[in-house]
Amino acid sequence: MGSIVPPAVANVPARDTVPVPELPDVEAYRRFFLAHAAGKTVADVWADPTIVRNATPHALRRALRGRRFEEPARHGKWLMCWTDGPALLLHFGMTGDLVWSGQEPERHRHDRLILRFDDGDELRYRNMRKLGGVWLAHDPEEVARVLGPLGPDALAVSRRAFLELLGRRRGGVKAALMDQTLVAGGGNLIADEVLWQARIHPHRDIAGLGEEERRRLYSVLRSVLRESVDRYDYIPRKPSWLSHVRGMPGAACPRCGTPLARTVAGGRTTYFCPHCQPEPTPTGRRQRTMSR
Ligand SMILES: [Zn+2]
Repeated sequence: MGSIVPPAVANVPARDTVPVPELPDVEAYRRFFLAHAAGKTVADVWADPTIVRNATPHALRRALRGRRFEEPARHGKWLMCWTDGPALLLHFGMTGDLVWSGQEPERHRHDRLILRFDDGDELRYRNMRKLGGVWLAHDPEEVARVLGPLGPDALAVSRRAFLELLGRRRGGVKAALMDQTLVAGGGNLIADEVLWQARIHPHRDIAGLGEEERRRLYSVLRSVLRESVDRYDYIPRKPSWLSHVRGMPGAACPRCGTPLARTVAGGRTTYFCPHCQPEPTPTGRRQRTMSR
């Protein structure tokens, strides 16, 4: 869902710098849902029929009314909100957000799902572009069907599992970092940040990555996500990170001052440092392939 970008959107240059919900944002939504919806009983539900993907608004309302939300869970960029009955599954696409009536009393025209609780509070799922959506699931099997094939969560995956999955994978490293079936939760911004911090060129093939580079990829992925989730609720624009300048005109590498380069990798606009992330050489690729 979140990884699918229609060509019309990819062609708009300004999009590069607009924050799209990635794993740390969805983890923040999970905590937000926990704070403002968990433990509460649903009094009423209103839904935009175009955002509910596998039920009618009427069926969703009937399924959720009178139900009490439990602690929500997250897998990759999915939010799973179980009640004492069915679960509500949320994907934030590119412009999704959660809004609580305590902070914003007025409803907004982009509020696609409104949950009203018995205490009068509302939690609203807002989504301007309507990518992503809302699903209803009655049991864990139905949740699995809706989520589709997903790899382990990018924040929870062990180094061993990550290296194993990477070892079986072919193709470009950037596409792999964004592929939800390899590890769930990666996005364009995370992939660029991780590759830059790990000093790996976005056009490198996984087959050409050495053991040390694979381990570095894992440890950087972990530290980027950990810090984003623990301290910021999103991927921070830290002065020492690529994200600080990524997408800005005339941006230079925060590490070495070389002007950043822009390319397309894994089908997405990609920023990197031509000095810190050296271009893959055909020779290097051949040698590595032969030595395997
Ligand atoms: Zn650099």
